[in-house]
Amino acid sequence: MVDELMATCDCGWTARGPQDKLVDKIQEHAREAHGLEITPEQALAQARPVEEPWQPRSPTTPTGSLGQR
Ligand SMILES: [Zn+2]
Repeated sequence: MVDELMATCDCGWTARGPQDKLVDKIQEHAREAHGLEITPEQALAQARPVEEPWQPRSPTTPTGSLGQR
């Protein structure tokens, strides 16, 4: 299922989750961080579908230890 959305604010804040929860988070962020009351429609306008599956970083991923020629 791909009902997860993510939102990015101009200030660099990001959040992701199902649409209804994400709208709540965006409204809460707008109010607490920016003093703005926004409508669910305005919140949703900042949300986009999450296209990539969530990929937690693996602690075993090699980090740049491969040779540089
Ligand atoms: Zn913000």
